[in-house]
Parts: sequence; C-alpha cells; structure tokens
Amino acid sequence: MVENTDDMKTLILTLILAASASATAPDFVRNADVCNGWYKAWDDKVTQEMQDLPFVIASHPDKDMLAKARKLNTRLLEYVTFYQMPADQYYQHANIKDHPEWVCIHADGKPGESADNANADWLTTCPNSPTYHEYVIKTVRLIMEAGVDGLFIDNGHPDRVCEGPKFGKHKHLYPDQDNNYAYRKLLEDISAVVKSYGADKIVIVNPGNPWEQWRGACDGQMLESYICSWAWDNRWKEEKILQYQKEWGAKADAGDAVIALSYLDHTKAPVRDDAFYCFAWARLSGFIWADWFTGIDTARDLYKVRLGPAVGPMKTNTGYYSREFKYGMVVASKEAMGASFRISAKDHPSVLDLYNTKFLKPGKSGDYEIKLDKGEGRVYTW
Ligand SMILES: [Zn+2]
Repeated sequence: MVENTDDMKTLILTLILAASASATAPDFVRNADVCNGWYKAWDDKVTQEMQDLPFVIASHPDKDMLAKARKLNTRLLEYVTFYQMPADQYYQHANIKDHPEWVCIHADGKPGESADNANADWLTTCPNSPTYHEYVIKTVRLIMEAGVDGLFIDNGHPDRVCEGPKFGKHKHLYPDQDNNYAYRKLLEDISAVVKSYGADKIVIVNPGNPWEQWRGACDGQMLESYICSWAWDNRWKEEKILQYQKEWGAKADAGDAVIALSYLDHTKAPVRDDAFYCFAWARLSGFIWADWFTGIDTARDLYKVRLGPAVGPMKTNTGYYSREFKYGMVVASKEAMGASFRISAKDHPSVLDLYNTKFLKPGKSGDYEIKLDKGEGRVYTW
C-alpha cells in the first residue's frame, strides 16, 4: 500500500531503475548493421560517410559536431572512460590530483597504473569510492545536458581489487564487494541517468570483448579488434569467430547489442576483401559492424548497407555460412574450402552483389549460381 506521494515517487523511481537495468537496446540499435567512430576532426571526407548511420562515437564533441550529426541524420555518442584519469590534468570535468580518494589502491599500497600503454602515466580509478561514484554521475548529467545521444564507455575493465580502505585512503560504497560489483552498480546508475533523457539514449561499454557481468546494465558492448586489427597481421581463425558467434549471437539477437570493431589494412589481403569478410561475419553473428573508417577508401559502400531484421538464424552449409535478412543476405565461405550455391531468382527478381557492385544474372538453372573461393565474405541485397 502506497501511503503518500513521496512513497509513490520512490516506488516509481525504483520501478524505472529496475526496468532500465533489464532493458534491451532500442530498435535503432537492435536493427543496426553498421555504426562507426571518429576521434579526430570531422572533415568532409569522413562526415560524408556518417550520413544516416544509426550512431557515431566521437571524442569531446562540441556544439558544431552535434549540429553536424543532426544534419547527417545520425546520433552522437560521447567517448568517456571511467577506468582511468591522467595523473595531473583536467580531464572529463575534473583533475584527479584534487581527489586522491578516487585513485584505486593496489595490494602493495601503491596507486593503480593504467594498463593502456598509450596512457602510461594515467592512474586507475576506484568505482567503489563514494565520491568517485558521485563525480561520475554528475559528469554523466553534464554530458547528457549538452544534448548528446548517449555514452561510449571505453575501458570497461576496472581493477578488480582496491585496498583503499585497508590503507586508509578512502572508504567503499560496497565494503564487502570487489570493484567488478561496484562498476556494475555504477553502470546501472549511469544507464538510469542516460535513459532519463529519453528511451532512445544509449550506453555502450567497451571492455575489449563483451563481459557477461555487464549485460543488462547497458545497451550494448564492444568486441574490439574483431577478426582484423592493428595488433596482428592475419585474420582470426574461423574457430575463434564461431566461438563469439556461439557465445554472443543469441544474446545480441535478444537485445544485448555487440559492436564488432575491425581495424582494416593490416593483413596481406586487399582491404575490401577483409572488410567484406569481417562485415559478413559480424552480421552472421548478429553483431553491428564498425571499422572506425579504416576501410573508407575501398569499402565505404558497406556503411550504407541496410539489411533490415534477420529472417532466421545463421545457417551452416557445405563450404559456407549464410544468414537471410528482410532486404538481403550475407555469406562467408569457410576458411578451408570454397562454396558453390544458388539464390532463387523467382523469390528475388533483383539481387545486387555489393562486393562486385553488379546485379546477379540467372544461370542455366534459372537461379543465380554463385561460386566463392575460400575465406570470402559477400553481401547480397534485394
Ligand atoms: Zn577503492
């Protein structure tokens, strides 16, 4: 029984928080084929390719970028990190030097150092520190007030143990819990703030690869360096690609979005071949593909692909994998053997082979007869 309006308000807030914690991503995320990110200046070459993308991730966006995003019919997510801060520099609305109680303390009593090589002198932060938690929520409000469409939270991998209380550096919000628990709670609170600006505002977390623990506390997670990366010079083995498809495909289909980010131009294969292979595998797996514009010169047509909702799950066939969508189909031939298959010309009178930028012509059988070499990715649209 709710006695008065204050109790009613508390009850409603509790219900909203519970709903947001278990909510799945909005439709524009669930049905996205591709999204992208760009941390440098928004020059004409790149902004042209942002047109109509479901969302774009930007670092320190200003009013001009936000206006550009609106004009380009795309949503803008702001890059943030709640894992680390520069040791003595104003960053994300604060300088950690003024807040020593935010610093994560390791078992030896020393401050946590960033695992990010590019930020060697950065310190890790403690999500279990009450004033840090407070600061993060305040910062999220400031960012959302500027009118962006949500957050891309990088480095979603807190230092698991903080001995701040043991060394008298700070107290913990959750004294009996580790920092993974505290970070999950922080994500839930961040999501609640973001969703309070609209149901279509979103939170994407990047732990490197999706973590089970963050499911339900955000709209989606990133799988960074998917198949192709600057960190290696060969594609992933098919076995590893399939492992992610098996582990995260059904979850992605159910609304826990996975953004698969491939960095192109680091293998011996042509960039366009790698791009189509990565894209095909991402969509076979139910993932949203991104390349941070590393394929802009040779595979920009992939940014425009709109396949619509999946018609069924991925199919495993002799020599290839395939998945049908409302407006097309993706195919990846196996890494060890080529593929030979047909697409019904009766069902699909007009089919564009995006890789070859040609409409398919029926063969002797009356259907489209397709042959692929091993390790190829294709997108057919109708
Ligand atoms: Zn701590």
